Amino acid sequence: VVRRARATSLEPEVPAGKPDQPLALEVRDLSVSFPQVGGQRVQVVQNVDLRLRRGELLCLVGESGSGKSVTAMSMLGLVSHPGLVTASRIRLDDEEISGLDFKAMRAIRGNRIGVVFQDPLASLNPTFTVGNQMCEAIMEHRDVPRREARALTIDLFERVGIPNPEQRLDDYPFQFSGGMAQRVMIAMALSCDPEVLVADEPTTALDVTVQKQILDLLVGLRDERGLSILLITHDLGVVAEVGDTVATMYAGQIVEFGPVAEVFAQPRHPYTQGLLDSIP
Ligand code: ADP
Ligand code: MG
Repeated sequence: VVRRARATSLEPEVPAGKPDQPLALEVRDLSVSFPQVGGQRVQVVQNVDLRLRRGELLCLVGESGSGKSVTAMSMLGLVSHPGLVTASRIRLDDEEISGLDFKAMRAIRGNRIGVVFQDPLASLNPTFTVGNQMCEAIMEHRDVPRREARALTIDLFERVGIPNPEQRLDDYPFQFSGGMAQRVMIAMALSCDPEVLVADEPTTALDVTVQKQILDLLVGLRDERGLSILLITHDLGVVAEVGDTVATMYAGQIVEFGPVAEVFAQPRHPYTQGLLDSIP
């Protein structure tokens, strides 16, 4: 087998976007305001549009406080308030989900969208074993007996790279390292067999070597399972490494959106330019 050399060794190793795929998630015109002391309001997210295609990894990047988490939380119905959170469209596959009530959104988060947050140990209950929490999560959304939930948990643990999964079921969260706990959270997010995974700074709290392993895991889920992933990060290095497309957020607005290779080659917004200049 003759391996063809890459065109130039300086080219960033980024997969092309997936422009032919249908939209897995589409957000249009999302705006979020928060009430302030004294009765005023401050707008923290302004007319945000996002498009995530099936099997694509979209990075939402921006400095701390730019509105990334609020965007994700609002999109997922975790922040909602009539008048303060508005969108003209939030569509999952072909289904409009903006305006659904809390209960319906909870079902969607349990069945069709997996969510992973920054601090895995804060997302787990310290008083129950990890196996117990996984089984409960599975049984909440799937009509299966505990025995089956347990088998599924072992399966999922294997899939996300937790060694000796069967032995880990009776461990408590504190017995897991940060990286292993984040794998547990990803397993939990995958337990509903989601169409879309939303991961908000999933590697920010982890050591650099562990960061890389978790990113590899996400890329594997995209490539092997065709999972559509919205990855929130403040780190443009992460975008370069794993992103198909990138949306740059600045002061509550999306200031740039496109395939990673294109945006990196020709950033149009001064903020993106600045971010690129800051990559070592
Ligand atoms: P990021 O995730 O990009 O770091 P966030 O989405 O968490 O930023 O925050 C965006 C802005 O909204 C920040 O200015 C933050 O202070 C503000 N904010 C976040 N949560 C609240 C809240 N519950 N009440 C008021 N302001 C908030
Ligand atoms: Mg955040």
